Amino acid sequence: MKKISILGSTGSIGTQTLEVIENNGDIQVTALAAGSNIALLEKQIRKVRPRLACVWDEEKAAELKANVADLDVKVVSGMDGLIQAATEESAEIVVTAVVGMIGIRPTIAAMEAGKDIALANKETLVTAGHLIMPLAKEKNVRILPVDSEHSAIFQCIQGVRGSGQIHKILLTASGGPFRGLTREQMKDIRPEDALKHPNWTMGRKITIDSSTMVNKGLEIMEAHWLFDVSMDQVQVVVQPKSIIHSMVEFEDGAVMAQLGTPDMKLPIQYALYYPERRYLPGERLDFWKIGQITMEEPDFDNFPALSLACEAGTTGGSLPTVFNAANEYAVSRFLDRKISYLAITDMIEAAMRRHKVIENPSLEQILETEAETCDFLKNQYRADS
Ligand code: NDP
Ligand code: MG
Repeated sequence: MKKISILGSTGSIGTQTLEVIENNGDIQVTALAAGSNIALLEKQIRKVRPRLACVWDEEKAAELKANVADLDVKVVSGMDGLIQAATEESAEIVVTAVVGMIGIRPTIAAMEAGKDIALANKETLVTAGHLIMPLAKEKNVRILPVDSEHSAIFQCIQGVRGSGQIHKILLTASGGPFRGLTREQMKDIRPEDALKHPNWTMGRKITIDSSTMVNKGLEIMEAHWLFDVSMDQVQVVVQPKSIIHSMVEFEDGAVMAQLGTPDMKLPIQYALYYPERRYLPGERLDFWKIGQITMEEPDFDNFPALSLACEAGTTGGSLPTVFNAANEYAVSRFLDRKISYLAITDMIEAAMRRHKVIENPSLEQILETEAETCDFLKNQYRADS
């Protein structure tokens, strides 16, 4: 039986990963980690019986420990605990489905321990891709994409040897709920408006990121690292219904695409069983009903996050960390109703403009840049209000 550890098991990707595992019945879960949702985590523990469970919040971890005292499971907490979950001895694959760049240290620790990574946590690759990709080579571990677009690209390049044959990656985007609006029309958007994605049901942070197009910006950088292509080789194509999950144009002009219904269980299952394809229950595409698939150019003027992401990724060094950290901070403030919707991208830009780029930052420098970016925005926000 394949053994896996799931970081972020109570979230959107985490719970769907557990569904895939339940449907297949031949994977053993050896570790689970969550932030604070101990009610759901306890249910998961009782069902899959991992050896180890981690809760970020120390008090909640103590509570969970008392609640599962009848079971043979070790309960740990904090970053040390998250790293223990990422490196649980018997796990072969670690599903990184925590949200945000908090995933960097556990991902690196898992790779150092020789585990393959089923990567959902794109923030890790965006901020530390220059550390992660060489480490994967050195440790001979695989990074299997879970993000639907990157899984699509990965599926399209099966059988292709070397990135030299990829001419261009065509990264599809739904355009989010505010496609077609001007910035002026986006002024009064509230969290409840932005939390309605037209095609996908996802965690809160990524849903906001999809609406601002920050998510697509992060995904351009993610594709750059995963597939060893330059930022310029990634072109965003808006395809509002999310039927085409992404495409690859090869050197000879041939374009391969992966299509399907919007269901994250497909990329999750593909990553867990790669290179095997298994039956997956669920809706199938009916092309007679679909009729048309439309495509558009992205709106760079009204969604400045895209150009900011391209600038961050092309400059590289510590700038992608600033882009990402500023966004994580701004999105949490927006969800707490402390800043306006348009302030999210304004804050990203302000943080990027004042930053002095560090080339090839170490893990410590990445984490320092994150802290500095948040401090700057906290002060700036105080000064503005
Ligand atoms: P959710 O918000 O739904 O879930 C996040 C998970 O991380 C929860 O289990 C949460 O625990 C846990 N978590 C949060 N903070 C910590 C912490 N400090 N320590 C341990 N666990 C923590 O997010 P999603 O599942 O939507 O997204 C997860 C990642 O996958 C993100 O990086 C996202 O960009 C990426 N992704 C998601 C897609 C989707 O369809 N949802 C698609 C493509 C990529 P708790 O519940 O206790 O708070
Ligand atoms: Mg995606």
